[in-house]
Amino acid sequence: MCHFLSVIVPVLNERDTLQTLTRELNAAAQGVVNDFEIIFVDDGSTDDSWSVIQVLAAAPHITGIRFRRNFGKAAALTAGIRSAGGDLILMIDADLQDDPAEIPRLVAGIRAGADVVNGWKQRRLDPWHKVYPSRVFNWLISHMTGLRLHDHNCGLKLFRSAVAREIRIYGEMHRFIAVLAHARGFRVTEIPVHHRPRQHGYSKYGIRRFLRGFLDLLTVTFLTSFGYRPQHAIGACGLCFLLIGLLGLGYLSALWCLMHVFGLAAPAPIGSRPLLAYSIAATLLGGQALSLGLLAEMILAFSGRPADGYSVRERTGHPGSESQSDAGLTS
Ligand code: UDP
Ligand code: MG
Repeated sequence: MCHFLSVIVPVLNERDTLQTLTRELNAAAQGVVNDFEIIFVDDGSTDDSWSVIQVLAAAPHITGIRFRRNFGKAAALTAGIRSAGGDLILMIDADLQDDPAEIPRLVAGIRAGADVVNGWKQRRLDPWHKVYPSRVFNWLISHMTGLRLHDHNCGLKLFRSAVAREIRIYGEMHRFIAVLAHARGFRVTEIPVHHRPRQHGYSKYGIRRFLRGFLDLLTVTFLTSFGYRPQHAIGACGLCFLLIGLLGLGYLSALWCLMHVFGLAAPAPIGSRPLLAYSIAATLLGGQALSLGLLAEMILAFSGRPADGYSVRERTGHPGSESQSDAGLTS
């Protein structure tokens, strides 16, 4: 089958590697795909990466996009994907840690039926303080999202353009591309890939990535399970709190009646019991969560695109009006 491969390379201060990377990419794509382009996205580099990209872009299959400032890897990937013309999209780090020689095996994964082929740095050549926390992180993602991969955040990934059209990569969500695709029913596989130590430049991500990554994991887990029915999560919590609060208040009201109407002696006046404060707090919290859930539903109802709620694998017969709205997703 013919394929047009778009290679997206996010670049932040990687001037020393871009030429070698281009050479390696050109060599690796030869004969594997019919058509091939490289898109470098300069994410606010302060070295002369952009000058190097300008020189490289003299070749007809190479383009460069330069951000006004650093917006992050996810933004760089999104910009690259938006201008990609290929039916296959490869993302690869610019620092030569990922090996372009893996391209034929990644493409073979797609030909075997996968929609996303995720790299797995089986022998990872990074410092220990990146490797071990990353293992824990991968275990967490796998168990919280149900997609068991060894290396969710591998910089080397190949996916069909349909995947890129349907998922939004913002903030630092590039770590969850495979999870987001899997949640929409795309077939995700992983293959072990060759990894190399960083020889030039410096790593752009420190230990803070794990804290941010964990917060993003919570977001992704929520979005993939309740993104299209937020009230079922927020409202359910609200309802629980409301019930607990109302039960407490009901109990205290009954006690008050027993004391004041039937003259029964109670251990303490209800106004001074901690249960009163807890019950009021739970009732308020419950009410607030319920209205927050309704607000989330309103946002979804009025601003969500209808086709976001499903993903079509294929169609048969005569295309109806639905195909029009699916096409609208690409815009
Ligand atoms: N990168 C980017 N914008 C950023 C941070 C990183 O475009 O804000 C690029 C960087 O140039 C590299 C890739 O993303 O091509 C991965 O970054 P890095 O190698 O620093 O990550 P690590 O391998 O240390 O996880
Ligand atoms: Mg790297």
